[in-house]
Amino acid sequence: ERRAAGAAWTGPGATSDGHAVQVLANVQDAAGAVRAAAEPIEGFGLYRTELSFLDRSSEPTVDEQTEIYAAVLDAAGTHKVVVRTLDAGSDKPLAFADMGTEPNPALGVRGLRIATERPELLDHQLDAIAAAAARSDADVWVMAPMVAVVSEAADVAQRIRERGLTAGVMIETPSAALLADRLLEHVDFVSIGTNDLSQYTFAADRMASSLSHLTDPWQPALLMLVSSVAAAGERAGKPVGVCGEAAADPMLACVLVGLGVTSLSCAASAVRSVGAMLATVTLEQCREAAEAALAAADPAAGRDRVRAILA
Ligand code: PEP
Ligand code: MG
Repeated sequence: ERRAAGAAWTGPGATSDGHAVQVLANVQDAAGAVRAAAEPIEGFGLYRTELSFLDRSSEPTVDEQTEIYAAVLDAAGTHKVVVRTLDAGSDKPLAFADMGTEPNPALGVRGLRIATERPELLDHQLDAIAAAAARSDADVWVMAPMVAVVSEAADVAQRIRERGLTAGVMIETPSAALLADRLLEHVDFVSIGTNDLSQYTFAADRMASSLSHLTDPWQPALLMLVSSVAAAGERAGKPVGVCGEAAADPMLACVLVGLGVTSLSCAASAVRSVGAMLATVTLEQCREAAEAALAAADPAAGRDRVRAILA
């Protein structure tokens, strides 16, 4: 029945009683962005820019980058696009941003940390994003990955805003989640990357299938961090998105909404089932589901309780 509803769902994202939640797609290139734009979404909540450069041995020029970003922005029309600055290193190594051999790459110089040693890489990319934004109709937001402390957020927000763009950071480390109130003093929005936030919260490699019970996004400890970040967003009056895999699970998406998350971004193939599920439940049901998932002994118990509440 819900599968049929998914095919029929036409957006925009909202609960059955009209609580608006942006349903967005994760994209990585122009072809995927064009396909995603055919879905009833309100924009792209995560544009993974680094994935265009995995095979590049040298830094793409600002002009080259501008063309690549502009093609994705064009696909969005007038919608919102959250462009993520290069998330190089660890599971997404870029030859031109290689920081040398590290014993623990996931805990090494990756994401925004690379900008400390190579500030010009970030500046060039922000110049290209700003140039692409200037010639598109999209509402362009920019966020940095792998932020751990307030000074990183303050610095990157300044560099993004200098170019006239909306500035945010990803919440992917437990420290960022704990510091959400303070980060939000410096940025316009945050977006929770549940894939990495799980990895770092449970000290469990996101690539290790033998540890997938720990990186399960239904883990109550992960949801506690999401809850705390969403509450910080409410206090600040600023948007809190989720753009990790958690947002692709229709039942968990309802839990996230109940926790106070304001946008959900997932694979384009999942947006219809997420939007359709949300349209069948009230905000109060989402809140009850969130309470149950937080209080659950483990992911399986949380799923069972939430299924009953949302039925
Ligand atoms: C995440 O970590 O949840 C995220 C959305 O970023 P990526 O999966 O690209 O690391
Ligand atoms: Mg990540």
